[in-house]
Amino acid sequence: MLAYLDHHASTPCDPAVQAAMEPWWSVHAANPSSRLHRPALEAAAAVERARGQVAQALDAAEATAVVFTSGATEANNLALKGVLEAALERGEPRQRLLTLATEHRAVLDPLRYLERHGFPLTVLPVQPDGLVDLEAFAAALGPEVLLAAVMAANNEIGVLQPLAAIAELCRARGVLLHVDAAQAAGHIPLAMADLGIDLLSVSGHKCYGPKGVGALLVRSGVAVAPQIHGGGQEGGLRAGTVAVPLVVGLGEALQRCCADQPERSGRLGALRDRLWQGLEPLGGMRCNGVGAPRLSHNLNITVGGVDGTALHRLLRRDLAVSSGSACSQGSPSHVLAALGLSRQEAAASVRFGLGRSTGEAEITRAIDAVRAAVDQLRG
Ligand SMILES: *Cc1c(COP(=O)(O)O)cnc(C)c1O
Repeated sequence: MLAYLDHHASTPCDPAVQAAMEPWWSVHAANPSSRLHRPALEAAAAVERARGQVAQALDAAEATAVVFTSGATEANNLALKGVLEAALERGEPRQRLLTLATEHRAVLDPLRYLERHGFPLTVLPVQPDGLVDLEAFAAALGPEVLLAAVMAANNEIGVLQPLAAIAELCRARGVLLHVDAAQAAGHIPLAMADLGIDLLSVSGHKCYGPKGVGALLVRSGVAVAPQIHGGGQEGGLRAGTVAVPLVVGLGEALQRCCADQPERSGRLGALRDRLWQGLEPLGGMRCNGVGAPRLSHNLNITVGGVDGTALHRLLRRDLAVSSGSACSQGSPSHVLAALGLSRQEAAASVRFGLGRSTGEAEITRAIDAVRAAVDQLRG
């Protein structure tokens, strides 16, 4: 059995979440938008209950809209394109968009798409530890900036951006703040209302829920233009029949992920530290993002003096891990490049993502696998 240590790419669906979803596949098959009969009303009630669970898990303010989507990718696209389009419709002079070099491609690619269509984009570099430079961020928040997109937790190196300070700067300058929280929701305490976040994206399969579902939370008063037009579901913001089983699963998963978060973070943090203590003595090891606040279930290392392709070819016999992001499809990690790593260093990097099912056995397995690979490759 491979040791699965790729929880940033996806988490297994919680059996309790699967059980909660079960009746909504076939026993309760009504369309929640039908409204005229009892089964439809029951489905609609299940969707509203899930909406409440999502809002509560993220401590959203009372009137915050929770728009269900097919995942965090769609939620990010809706937020970024939708806010810009709504601003254009009301003749808003602010058009510049701002983000960080280490964002997920589901943020960077929609922003670059908008840039190609003529809207100015600023991509700020990060510091060597992966954190935003708050002074540079403040300096970049000129009067032409409409929206800043800053992720809560990085999917490769686990670094947590200082959202409270970022939100305060944005608020003071009249800039909207979008936060991709796919890696953070359920994994760190995250209070959308208290932090003053305007738009926030989450993903079901990053918090022990199903794949193919996510949500965009929109603070009341923030205008977003729909990007999928049709039957007017989701308050007109996302047309298409709501995926009732998936949405029920997302609500249940987020609630459960938040409920055992303190215990899980403590346990996985100790295992992660044990993993690093086992790897560091092999020599030439660098921990990426070290020194910055990080997700406790993340460890991203660069192994010195070995070829990355050869390293991963050996590791994959025993471990499900990744070099960089699951979404970068073979190209070297733009996140590690933004930290200043060379192509070779980025390729010889390993991302460990621990999760609920991780125990001592997986950690020992990982240490042994890296030790054996390094011994072989360093001769
Ligand atoms: C996984 C991930 C996404 C994409 O989420 P999907 O639900 O798979 O579309 C976006 N942003 C971050 C930070 C992620 O980790």
